[in-house]
Amino acid sequence: MKTPLSSSLIKVEAMRLGFDACGIARVARVDDTTAAAFDRWIGKGYHAGMDYMARHGDARYHPDYVLSGCRTIVSLAMNYYPGRRIEEDRLQFAYYAYGKDYHEVMKDRIRQLAKAIGIKPENSEYSEFRVVVDSAPLLERYWALQAGLGWIGRNHNLIIPHRGSYMFLGELLLTDEVDQYDAPVANHCGTCRKCIEACPTCALTDGGVDAQRCLSYLTIEHRGPFSPEQAALIRQQLTPYYIYGCDRCQRACPHNSFARPNQTEEFQPSESLLDMQTEDWNQLTREKYTELFRGSPVKRAKYEGLMRNIKTVME
Ligand code: SF4
Ligand code: SF4
Repeated sequence: MKTPLSSSLIKVEAMRLGFDACGIARVARVDDTTAAAFDRWIGKGYHAGMDYMARHGDARYHPDYVLSGCRTIVSLAMNYYPGRRIEEDRLQFAYYAYGKDYHEVMKDRIRQLAKAIGIKPENSEYSEFRVVVDSAPLLERYWALQAGLGWIGRNHNLIIPHRGSYMFLGELLLTDEVDQYDAPVANHCGTCRKCIEACPTCALTDGGVDAQRCLSYLTIEHRGPFSPEQAALIRQQLTPYYIYGCDRCQRACPHNSFARPNQTEEFQPSESLLDMQTEDWNQLTREKYTELFRGSPVKRAKYEGLMRNIKTVME
């Protein structure tokens, strides 16, 4: 029988590589309550145009579908709370989009972690691990909860005790076992409803985020022009207007008073982004857009999408 990997070595190496939290979950099928809730969320159409969410059916409830023989999920978090922020009287971007695209940064570090704990190279004949950063049908917040990283708040974000929710999540899936697994963290939302009260479009429901009403979905994921109803939702926010993403339900959360500026070079905003004024956004050219957002997650909305958002809030 194979010797289990050392959980303390994994955590020490994760901290050395700059992760802010690391927990380890034993793999089993996602519990029935969570699976039923996810099915209901899809059934209600709350995933809006994110068709990929509805694919894979029941398979997404077992990590074996993502990595055959998967026994362990190492859940990892990296802080993105920015030390320098866009001034409050200017058009806003969600904090996660201030720097370079986190997918490659996280993936690279998770691969380094796999190497540091002695796992064989990915995609080799003896592939024993898989790195996931939004790149496979895995319920990442559920697994972060099972791995003891934090709890899922009423804003449906993962909240890490004494750290908050401005965290990127990623996973290292292993066919190995470890010598010690973590247990879920209790939910500390209590009677608080600040995030629900802060949402300008009432997108937070007990059954999950209704993406059809969520400014993050509308300004990032939605393709094509806005319908009059969608445009009205975008304008329903009070100033400062977000033109890419939305952090209101995170900003309202008292647990984010624990957030501390991230120290990751790739996540720092450029001077040119911080300097942009409303009139600059109105006159944004394709060339300036390319220069401002090289390697940035904002590329997801494309120039046309960002201009659509700007025009909508300015009307
Ligand atoms: S991201 Fe914004 S719009 Fe979406 S649920 Fe949170 S507060 Fe509401
Ligand atoms: S604002 Fe309150 S209810 Fe919402 S996630 Fe934070 S603690 Fe939970």
